[in-house]
Amino acid sequence: MAQKGVLVISVEPGSLAEGAGILAGDTLLEINGEKVLDQLNYQFLMSQRDETDLRLERPDKSIYEVSANNGGDGIGLDLAQDEVKVCKQNCVFCFVLQMPKGYRKSLYLKDEDIRLSFLYGHFSTLSSSDDGELDRIVRERLSPIHVSVHCTDPEVRVKVVGNPREGDILKKIDRLLEGGIDVHTQAVIAPDLNDGWVWEKTLQELWERRAYQSDGPWKGKGGVLSLSCVPVGLTAHREGLPDVQDVSDAYAKAWVERWTREARHYAEANEGEPWLLLADEWFTRGKVEVPGRAFYSQSWAQLENGVGLVRKFLEHSRRFIHSEKARRFKGRKALLLTGSSFAPILNRVLAQLNREVGSHLRAVAVMNNDFGQSVTVAGLLTGRDLKYAAHADRDSKGPVEAVVVPSSAIRTHTGPTDQYTLHGLNIARPEGTFLDDMTVDELMADLQTPVVPSGANLSQLLDHLEAAERAAGFSGRDLQKVFHATGLNLPQGAYNP
Ligand code: SF4
Repeated sequence: MAQKGVLVISVEPGSLAEGAGILAGDTLLEINGEKVLDQLNYQFLMSQRDETDLRLERPDKSIYEVSANNGGDGIGLDLAQDEVKVCKQNCVFCFVLQMPKGYRKSLYLKDEDIRLSFLYGHFSTLSSSDDGELDRIVRERLSPIHVSVHCTDPEVRVKVVGNPREGDILKKIDRLLEGGIDVHTQAVIAPDLNDGWVWEKTLQELWERRAYQSDGPWKGKGGVLSLSCVPVGLTAHREGLPDVQDVSDAYAKAWVERWTREARHYAEANEGEPWLLLADEWFTRGKVEVPGRAFYSQSWAQLENGVGLVRKFLEHSRRFIHSEKARRFKGRKALLLTGSSFAPILNRVLAQLNREVGSHLRAVAVMNNDFGQSVTVAGLLTGRDLKYAAHADRDSKGPVEAVVVPSSAIRTHTGPTDQYTLHGLNIARPEGTFLDDMTVDELMADLQTPVVPSGANLSQLLDHLEAAERAAGFSGRDLQKVFHATGLNLPQGAYNP
């Protein structure tokens, strides 16, 4: 029976693949006698030998074989996108299950893919990873990967992930560590579910497996590089889902008080490298100032998971406000829309900037009516909510030269997953689309004002305002040409202006 293989989309002109007679439309079946699973696997298999044997299939089902003297490199094949795997869990706090109805289909897919975990830092509960896949991770050295542990106690974990087969996460993690793979881990904390003794047990069992130990059973193996704790996020759409308690402001404050202290102890015991990480949301919900730079790792580990975004923004702003470039903000009048948790911090920074350079920037906290007001991050604001907030602001304070929307709320492509497909759904959005499918163009037409993506910091914001001015009358389709690629498609939960 014919193997599945991976489709060749195109062949680079002048490449070894072209010289070997490989054509677009063929299917790559085997490399050195091994089945080719996907793009990552192709790269791994090609790197194994200087001379590589490939087995392919033409569209007419005829099979042929070629050899390439590739020196361990690729041979110029562009392979078809891989399909993202779907998780087998039913986590009690799964965001996908709490989405309001009526959004585009791709937003309801519970993707969980170890390849994305390795490539882009997405978290996986490892539910779709059987022993074969774990062994593959070890063999192909897909390290580090990111694992959602939530808790290590098997009975509680079954309740948390809603899957009786996925209680024993340590067994899977240990298989990876034994194979030399490092892991970043996270626990989403829900009061009375996996906090208290459950959390302390999780902490202890993962700490025992920390990376780079000089003696003990885990010496010389892979290790746990970090453990982050993130407060549970609940939307207003939980009909039919198990009861989960939300994290109150007082709970968040108490968590910060206890665990920032502990986190410093863990860092000390880890030769100064932060290991226990607290997501920014604990601080913003608890109304506590985020800690200084030293609290976060040099490499900003787990930034995409909301750990250190606020501190990073503040550090950048502190330097930027006194720079020559910041003076180009002088006289500018813009409205910055953001989530309610970041707005007070942003307003504080903008007040300093305005004083320093004579700009007129202000931030407004946008209420999230679509997901519910308990959702306070910028990345989950919809076009509708942004539109209402901009109108309300204009009615009370008058027009501005630009309305700045959070980059994390706009999608121009599928972000880091754009090389993967979600069940064949076309999810590329070149025109710039908010979660509710409103486009940037529609928002601009409604507001009769340029709509500018925030970027990740004030410097990028200035670039964006200037670029919008140069490209007066730009359309949403030009977003990627007009603005910084790095200032678009920021992580969706991001605390960005
Ligand atoms: S692993 Fe859990 S939270 Fe993630 S998509 Fe699956 S059910 Fe949702």
